[in-house]
Amino acid sequence: MEHHNMPRERLQREIMQELGKRLDPKSLAAWFSCLSVKTIGHDSIIFETPNPFISNWIRQNYNDDLTRAASQIMGGKVAVSFEINPDMTPPAEEPETQKSRRAEKPAAPAAPVVGMNPDFRFDTFVVGPSNQFAYAACLAVSEKKARNYNPLFIYGGVGLGKTHLLCAVGNALHLANPRLRIICIQAETFMNEMILAIRNETMDQFRRLYRKECDVLLMDDIEIIAGKERTQEEFFYTFNDLHNVGKKIIFTSDKFPKEMTTLEERLRSRFESGIIVDIQAPEFETRLAILKRRADLDGIALPQEVAVYMAEAVRSNIRKLEGALIRLAAVSSISGSPITVQLAEDVIRAILDDSESSLSPETVMKVVAAHFKVKVSDLKSGKRNRKYAVPRQVAMYLCRELCRQSYPEIGGCFGGRDHSTVIHSCKKVGIEKNTDLEMKRHLETLKRQLKAG
Ligand code: ADP
Ligand code: MG
Repeated sequence: MEHHNMPRERLQREIMQELGKRLDPKSLAAWFSCLSVKTIGHDSIIFETPNPFISNWIRQNYNDDLTRAASQIMGGKVAVSFEINPDMTPPAEEPETQKSRRAEKPAAPAAPVVGMNPDFRFDTFVVGPSNQFAYAACLAVSEKKARNYNPLFIYGGVGLGKTHLLCAVGNALHLANPRLRIICIQAETFMNEMILAIRNETMDQFRRLYRKECDVLLMDDIEIIAGKERTQEEFFYTFNDLHNVGKKIIFTSDKFPKEMTTLEERLRSRFESGIIVDIQAPEFETRLAILKRRADLDGIALPQEVAVYMAEAVRSNIRKLEGALIRLAAVSSISGSPITVQLAEDVIRAILDDSESSLSPETVMKVVAAHFKVKVSDLKSGKRNRKYAVPRQVAMYLCRELCRQSYPEIGGCFGGRDHSTVIHSCKKVGIEKNTDLEMKRHLETLKRQLKAG
């Protein structure tokens, strides 16, 4: 593994961050500070601990949490196991005396940096058409240019860089002014802390922290508070206190405010009162650029054709793409075999579930063309005859649904058509499949064939 220290350290850090969403800071510090990633396998991770007491405790109490966190970061199910390394230093302090994540009155003038991944910065973010608007808005907020961008609501699917951008704002603001009290927190953690504060009768403290001792509030994955009445209420007042005095607030969410059906109306209108930006699934070029940057950072020599293959295969989730790279590097170094397309295929097959089929647009076109007895070149051509137009529209629709391509990407595959043409075609087929029995049958047959491989 000697070439791949970086993935290991990064993996370690990301797993700890993932765990931090679920566990309270004390247990995290007590039990996991002396846990380190030893070996990354294809579908397994071996951790080291200084003594069997710690590994047994983790296994008995946190096995699910750890497995889930590791699987999440690796982009697919992994098995977790432990080895003892007596050379590691056990934690110096007892759990109770371990410093909590959030020092209440920092002695130093600089405010503590809470909850931000230091690697998630603007300069490590690859900008492309799918995310440039969100990027620009975040940059503007971090440069104080954007008074009326408050709150900023970042909306997008899983693994597309929402948390990255959120932390980038926090990191930039901190760099510009280390005294700024920035809180970057998962909405779920906010909720859990609130519940704990209610139980321990420490709500005064809780409120002071979030409403008074906070200059910037970065709240990740806000969608989870939908339906949680008490949290929504508390959050509503927190929001107002901060917003009224012009403090910056940013949310991320995988749902649009309108989609959160169990969200209180007054909160919804607050979310919508600033600016809403979305992040789309990245285009091929952006995926490729992200992958290559990641490989560079981690010191992995990734041949061009392998990078292209991976960026083609993993389309709708950057986290999975990065997970695939970690696994690929691990498999290659364990087995001593070079990184090839074949090896990448094996790795990727293991992490892609049904929702992310590795179906390529080329395959879709081939199968659709055969089904309608036309040529693939007819699909890419400008021929307007119904004999070609219908198969072409169907193929576009399936590329959208099964390959999760963006409209401009589909346009590119079909002889460089404009994305508005693609949108029109997809809409048309989407309607006809419900109104036209023949269309319904075509789609069913084609999907069956494509899914069967
Ligand atoms: P989300 O919060 O939307 O689920 P994350 O922000 O956690 O997604 O991103 C998942 C991973 O992909 C992170 O490691 C992040 O750094 C990386 N990533 C996502 N988008 C980009 C991008 N445009 N450039 C560089 N890395 C990215
Ligand atoms: Mg996130």
